[in-house]
Amino acid sequence: MLKLYNTLTRKVEPFQPQDGNTVKMYVCGPTVYDYLHIGNLRPLIVYNALRRYMELFKGWQVIYVQNITDIDDKIIDRAIAEGQDTLSITAKYTDAYFKLLAALDLSPADHNPRATDYVAEMIKLIATLLDKGYAYEQDGSVYFRVTKFAQYGKLSRRSVEDLQQGVRIAVNEQKEHPADFTLWKASKAGEPKWDSPWGAGRPGWHSECVVMAQKFLGETIDIHAGGNDLIFPHHENEISQAEAVTGKPLARFWLHNGMLTIKGTEMHKSHGNFVYAHQVLERFTAETIRYFYLTRHYRKPLDYSEEALEEAEKAVWRVKNLLNDIEAEFSSSLITTQDQTPDKSDCTNSDRDDFLQRLSHLKQQYIAAMDNDFGTVDGIAAVQEIVKEAHRFRSRATGDDRNALKEALVLIRDLGLPLGLFKRQAQTERSREEELLRLLIDLRQRLRAKQDFALGDKIRQDLAQLGIILKDTPQGTTIVSKQIDQSN
Ligand SMILES: [Zn+2]
Repeated sequence: MLKLYNTLTRKVEPFQPQDGNTVKMYVCGPTVYDYLHIGNLRPLIVYNALRRYMELFKGWQVIYVQNITDIDDKIIDRAIAEGQDTLSITAKYTDAYFKLLAALDLSPADHNPRATDYVAEMIKLIATLLDKGYAYEQDGSVYFRVTKFAQYGKLSRRSVEDLQQGVRIAVNEQKEHPADFTLWKASKAGEPKWDSPWGAGRPGWHSECVVMAQKFLGETIDIHAGGNDLIFPHHENEISQAEAVTGKPLARFWLHNGMLTIKGTEMHKSHGNFVYAHQVLERFTAETIRYFYLTRHYRKPLDYSEEALEEAEKAVWRVKNLLNDIEAEFSSSLITTQDQTPDKSDCTNSDRDDFLQRLSHLKQQYIAAMDNDFGTVDGIAAVQEIVKEAHRFRSRATGDDRNALKEALVLIRDLGLPLGLFKRQAQTERSREEELLRLLIDLRQRLRAKQDFALGDKIRQDLAQLGIILKDTPQGTTIVSKQIDQSN
């Protein structure tokens, strides 16, 4: 059973989708005012992997929503700095964002709503909060009244009193309480604006995510995720607005990943110590980058360095070299297929059986690790253990026993799949052809087993005309293709 750490309860809890089979998941997306830095990549990689794990290993369907925040003070500042309008800025960086996702080989979200497409719904939400007394208007702006929402602070475990003390003297005079936050911001001259009952302005960031999450996933979603820098105020403020209106939890599980550090300091645009994601992609493959992120537990801080990525690169290659070697052994010049009924008197297969048993045990270990709050570190360690076992087995197994290596290959690929690791290289025409050949040989053997030699022979003759020669040996059927004959 999958268990996840829920920031709301501060506990690792069993997770099941609320309606049985469909997981409704919302991950806060980027504010499109710049290229993403590598700290921004962590939630993208982690939650994408979690989603794939739930789909592939739990059999759930995941509806994955990740928004685009395309209206924000930072966008306006950037537009002024670049001497462009905000639309050109958001178009440019939204485009770059989607290109980056593709380059990282991350599955696209089911929905990528853009905030500016849902302003009408945001105005409706804010109007409802005003009606219910959870908000008030001041000079064309609207603020949320935190003292009215009794559970304010439940996610971040802060009290309204603490917040009052924590705020410096320079409080916004318009607010009733220093912790009250903006729902609607009156626009200044030249800023993008939408008409509202309170005059021209734009929605606040916290209202945007509530509207987009609920629009696609309903009043209560299964998983709301993001970086732990979003717990307060962003997610706290999402909860207060949504739950003040519906009286129902906005999300059942709140997941938060740790921050990326560089030489021990948190990476931030404002600190000036950041590295752009596309710069790292110029040096390392998407697979290496994913390995780097997933070999540290998602809730812990992760320190970035080129050396750490180089280590990840080597680790990925060690696995891939083994997979390539096994693949080459079984699909280059000779393809041997096992008899349908292996001759049991043939060998004492204890070594092979031990190996297969070990594989099955390590697969269970992988699942147990991943189920334990998405423990990709131990999950990947189990895969690396399979690699070691396969090396050992490979060095001593002979004859048909070696076929067990194929099982190791398939298993490593399967376990890597949710993580986007150890995938097959882009298929060459030849390996695809070989897969088809294997199917045909298997079919022919089944026909022969049913005494249908005529059709079996036809397959062989037709293949021979294509230059592919099948040879029946006591160990199974061997292929010798013309191409390979020539190369020998
Ligand atoms: Zn958000």
